Amino acid sequence: MGRSSKDKRDIYYRHAKEEGWRARSAYKLLQLAEMFKLFEDVSKAVDLCAAPGSWSQVLSSKLRTSDSDPETSSENVKIISVDLQSMAHIPGVIQLQGDITKESTAKKVIELMSGEKAELVVCDGAPDVTGLHDMDEYIQAQLVLAALNISTHILKDGGTFVAKVFRGKDIDILCKQLDLYFKKTCLAKPRSSRTSSLEAFVVCRGFRMPTNCKPTLFNPLLNPDSVLDFASLTEEERIIVPYVSCGDLSGFDSDCSYPLNLDDKPYEYRKPVQPPINPPYEHAVKLKRANMLMEPENP
Ligand code: SAM
Repeated sequence: MGRSSKDKRDIYYRHAKEEGWRARSAYKLLQLAEMFKLFEDVSKAVDLCAAPGSWSQVLSSKLRTSDSDPETSSENVKIISVDLQSMAHIPGVIQLQGDITKESTAKKVIELMSGEKAELVVCDGAPDVTGLHDMDEYIQAQLVLAALNISTHILKDGGTFVAKVFRGKDIDILCKQLDLYFKKTCLAKPRSSRTSSLEAFVVCRGFRMPTNCKPTLFNPLLNPDSVLDFASLTEEERIIVPYVSCGDLSGFDSDCSYPLNLDDKPYEYRKPVQPPINPPYEHAVKLKRANMLMEPENP
């Protein structure tokens, strides 16, 4: 397969390289932001599960009003990015490597906020998929709940929480749990997210801590001994969350292929903006280069 093949099949991948975003996911946040005015009055934001960093790049470019160097700028903007994996530096973004489901990481994020509150917390986290749908959906939901758990400590009253979810059979339960903490919860599918993918984003606005609920870093939903019985929820306790599509509907369709010479502009191949740093497959690539990787035997 030629190196331009992916450019042909994935218009958002190609545009990301042309426009300097580290990943095509940048367009998902941009399209969500356009629909829900996510960046209005936001100066502090936390990006959970941020690597390779395109959402943090978007936050950095949209929250700052001046073009001055973000490292030295006196603007009151704070962006914190967290991921399991190491991330190349983004000017003006505080980076933290850690697992968001761990209490130690949650504590570090709270510490980095130095008593200030964020108006926006986003989480584009995706665990390694196993292919077992129930298991994948469960782990994804746990990641969202871990992000919510951190948010209860750092999100301003009235703040917004955006997270990636899988639209599986238990999505209504997850939405109901989130809805307890927010005035409005909505499921959104940006145009840059493939229709064929179960991925969608919950956009929860108007954060408010439920009465008598104290934020704690203990998350009963992550505890296998939890006594919560989801099956016992009544119909009234389940809600129907609106599901909307966002992004310019006459714009590019992420499920289509486009010619390389778009709008009669000559095509030029571009390298990815930020190649992975310390990827988990690096060791295997080194062995392969040194011809030390054994080929699997024919059965
Ligand atoms: N929004 C990112 C961007 O625009 O560049 C892309 C995020 S990528 C789809 C999903 C990320 O979730 C991966 O970098 C992965 O390391 C991270 N992740 C998965 N589980 C995590 C966890 N428990 N704690 C922190 N990060 C996690």
